[in-house]
Amino acid sequence: MYAEFDLHVPADMDAALAALAENGARGPIMPIAGGTNMIVDLRARSVSPRALVSIAKVPGMRGIEIDDARVRMGGRTTVSDLLRHPELGQIAPSLVESARLFAGQMVRNTATVAGNICSGSPAADLVPPLLALDAEVTLASRSASRSLALADFFQGYKQMQRRPDELMIEVSFPRPSANATNSFYKLARRKGDAITVVGVAVAMRVEGDACHDVRIALGSVAPVVLRASGAEATLEGQPASAERIEAAARAAMEAVSPIDDIRASADYRSHCVHVLTRRLLTEARAQLAREGAGA
Ligand SMILES: Cc1cc2nc3c(=O)[nH]c(=O)nc-3n(C[C@H](O)[C@H](O)[C@H](O)COP(=O)(O)OP(=O)(O)OC[C@H]3O[C@@H](n4cnc5c(N)ncnc54)[C@H](O)[C@@H]3O)c2cc1C
Repeated sequence: MYAEFDLHVPADMDAALAALAENGARGPIMPIAGGTNMIVDLRARSVSPRALVSIAKVPGMRGIEIDDARVRMGGRTTVSDLLRHPELGQIAPSLVESARLFAGQMVRNTATVAGNICSGSPAADLVPPLLALDAEVTLASRSASRSLALADFFQGYKQMQRRPDELMIEVSFPRPSANATNSFYKLARRKGDAITVVGVAVAMRVEGDACHDVRIALGSVAPVVLRASGAEATLEGQPASAERIEAAARAAMEAVSPIDDIRASADYRSHCVHVLTRRLLTEARAQLAREGAGA
């Protein structure tokens, strides 16, 4: 059922990066973290690595650190780790909500944040909140490491900026300010363990009565999870009136290019982008008003 491959289980980062540096003409060498996507892909033979490099035993890659400026997650941090963190739900409720609605308990315990991003799926649930939180990813190879905006990481359907010899060692985002809010809605055919039909994440901050840093990210409605930048611009620097929110929601709908599949039609997905974007923006405005933000 599986094609043959070698399995490396390096004990440290240097050895993991050295193993990945052997990528070349003899065939691909790929990282494996929780394996929840990789095993499915191996069985379907949609990937045929010459070798897998497990990062399970690489120390220092798992955990969440929060300081005044940033939230940092190691490259092997699991979805369950997001749910267990005592502070993260206050700071990034959108990310924790996406983790709560993610798969079932067993998958959440092994599936990693970096694996979700590096799978490149337009339905990857952690990606819309991370995009809306202005996340950055750090990639390391034997020769160098580099950080780039998550928004620049995705290039097309399952096409990413990661080179074969690179490992995603960290995912981080700026700590949202006190007068900011972020939220996520996953629409699926069941409440648990279901692939997303439409995912919408929203983040914004208010100053006076004007919205700033408006972010709207949409999942499962295009070849990649995307930022609806036209919709964001509709609200940026403006009061969040019902009319502007409606205009932003319409602009979000116009930004998507969904497909028909067994879960939903393209028309239904577009309609839900409109409705859910309007709902999350309206709730964000109400929450910030309740908290007296911007006053
Ligand atoms: C039953 C089931 C339910 C699921 N439900 C959901 C769901 O609700 N929402 C959702 O979004 N996904 C879901 N998934 C998909 C999957 O669980 C997630 O995408 C998960 O986050 C992948 O993480 P992983 O650690 O298992 O990655 P792996 O399977 O180990 O790897 C996935 C890909 O990422 C690469 N990779 C992994 N780690 C790194 C790294 N540190 N650096 C560079 N490349 C890396 C691998 O080479 C591979 O190409 C589900 C899967 C299953 C089997």
